[in-house]
Amino acid sequence: MNNSELAFIKGVASLAAGQAPGLVKGIGDDCAVLQRHDDEVLLITTDTLVSGVHFNLKWHPPHLLGRKAAAVNISDIAAMGGVPRYALLSAALSPELSDGDLQEFMNGFVEILKEYDVVLVGGDTVAAPCPTFNITLLGEMSGAEVCYRAAAQDGDEIWGSGFLGEAAAGLALCEQMENVPEQFAPLVQAHLNPQPRIALGRVLAASGHVHAMLDLSDGLATDLAHICTASGLAAQVDANKLPLSATIEKAAAFLGCDARQWALSGGEDYELLYTVAPGTGEALARQVEEELGLQVSRLGQMNSGQGVFLMEDGHKRQISYQGYEHHL
Ligand SMILES: [Mg+2]
Repeated sequence: MNNSELAFIKGVASLAAGQAPGLVKGIGDDCAVLQRHDDEVLLITTDTLVSGVHFNLKWHPPHLLGRKAAAVNISDIAAMGGVPRYALLSAALSPELSDGDLQEFMNGFVEILKEYDVVLVGGDTVAAPCPTFNITLLGEMSGAEVCYRAAAQDGDEIWGSGFLGEAAAGLALCEQMENVPEQFAPLVQAHLNPQPRIALGRVLAASGHVHAMLDLSDGLATDLAHICTASGLAAQVDANKLPLSATIEKAAAFLGCDARQWALSGGEDYELLYTVAPGTGEALARQVEEELGLQVSRLGQMNSGQGVFLMEDGHKRQISYQGYEHHL
């Protein structure tokens, strides 16, 4: 997302402001939230992938592209703490994608839907100058457990799952070389085939301890800025606490890049970022590790003010909205 996209979304949000029966949350979070029955809510999200902007068929196998197209939407359901249920797929097709490629794309798409118990219920196909896929995903959960971006509180601890910057490092490797060394395969996989954190989102939402949550699609600096803006707070990230894998450090040395920059401003990690009351993060981290075998790390703290700040060697600098801008 870049500044003009942000400005556009702000404009649309003000045009669309209003209330409708059953509307719990409209524009401004990972999903829209609609009241269903009793305490159940329906979660709705949509995302578009355009060839040459969001994916490159030179290195993205169609099977993995199909998986990723679904995964990035499933991730938005995870970001609220929900369970994905139904998908719609609209495909704009061009000769750039052969019939065989399209079949592979659909195989990957349906494969990941099955893994997450999601049913494809509709869609559309049209001809277009370049391949484009739009997916709408519907999920459900208890309305009382939904984790919104606007719910962070002053003093909250900020936590995130997994390693950061992996997908950005994988993209950089794919862009710069045809045969990426085998040791960097986990980074390339993170870029080509991200894993949405549905099980983690459920555990976090059901714990009752999470205040704000979202998924990291545009990079830590930008996504944390969304929580700050929505919650009317500032955030401080400790540069020494960024969860970097040994593999990303090696890739950074190999390409002459800064692994911490990938972690802060690289997009598409699809890990979950959440805030909890001071003193409650460690116990929740242990529960996540015991139940799911997943690592979560403390990244920083929410406080009063505005903007996202990085604490590095005693210096504090603002890093808000330095995230992913879509690559060609
Ligand atoms: Mg999201």
